[in-house]
Amino acid sequence: MKLISVIGSGTMGNGIAHSFAIAGYRVNLIDISQDSLEKGMNAISKNLDRQLVKGLITEELKFSALKNIQTYTDTRSGVSESDLVIEAATENLAIKLEIFKNLDTFCKPDAILASNTSSISIGKIASITQRADKIIGMHFMNPVPVMKLVEVIRGYSTSDEVTKTIMDLAVSLNKIPVEVNDYPGFVANRILMPMINEAIYSLHEGVAGVNEIDTVMKLGMAHPMGPLQLADFIGLDVCLAILNVLQQGFGNPKYAPCPLLVNMVTAGNLGIKSGQGFYDYSNGIKEPELSKKFKK
Ligand code: NAD
Repeated sequence: MKLISVIGSGTMGNGIAHSFAIAGYRVNLIDISQDSLEKGMNAISKNLDRQLVKGLITEELKFSALKNIQTYTDTRSGVSESDLVIEAATENLAIKLEIFKNLDTFCKPDAILASNTSSISIGKIASITQRADKIIGMHFMNPVPVMKLVEVIRGYSTSDEVTKTIMDLAVSLNKIPVEVNDYPGFVANRILMPMINEAIYSLHEGVAGVNEIDTVMKLGMAHPMGPLQLADFIGLDVCLAILNVLQQGFGNPKYAPCPLLVNMVTAGNLGIKSGQGFYDYSNGIKEPELSKKFKK
């Protein structure tokens, strides 16, 4: 693997590009929005600086990583020479199917096409292409440069060879891959999202306030972040999209998203990315205040 393309330069896409670039791979970072590409490159630069200050990388590595990344708004030119494409665009089935249909025609016949989807069926994505054996899930965790886990999702038709290539590739990034099968939410979100949803229900039903719920889970269960703060971090729109996939995929009402989550997403309160969720991020993300709505 020499050239990797990453589709989408948002929260996850810029982190994935960062991780490949410091491991010495050439990366084409692609987004339909020039503004997102600029924000993505700024985030990469800032995050590299953070690693430099912590002594995790050298100045040379920072510059070579930045040199390894080229940006594109035209998908065809950004993927035509690539050995692997990792799609990290918006969590929406129609958007992903359109992207993979195009990738199948734009990419080399032997290129592997991976999705960083949190919950969408790898089999469904594979079915829109003529290369189902080369379609796989490569689910990185947020923030990508920091988190070790990569959930590698094997679709029904994904070949052994492709699975091994992706498992080995994750190791070359200094990550720890775990192989799972293609069922709604895979492992990570099948377990995490019901917990987040239950935390939101606890708030909605007045069992406790935002701080109380997060404190119970931090101090009582040794979670580094409470579930409501984590939901803000992931993006409330992303959480809602995943819960909808779980509910439809299993046909079980236990996954139904809490009406409070639906209302917050409808109002545009998406967490850190919009500045407002369960917490208010107008003074930065380190020590957020409670959102006005949830102050007692
Ligand atoms: P985001 O909203 O931050 O970024 C999505 C980016 O995709 C945007 O910059 C948008 O302009 C771009 N985009 C949309 N359509 C495109 C297209 N057709 N071609 C190229 N670019 C396009 O989203 P995110 O949080 O980075 O999530 C991306 C993917 O990663 C989703 O599938 C999500 O479920 C998954 N994921 C998210 C997290 C998380 O914590 N946010 C964690 C793991 C996986």
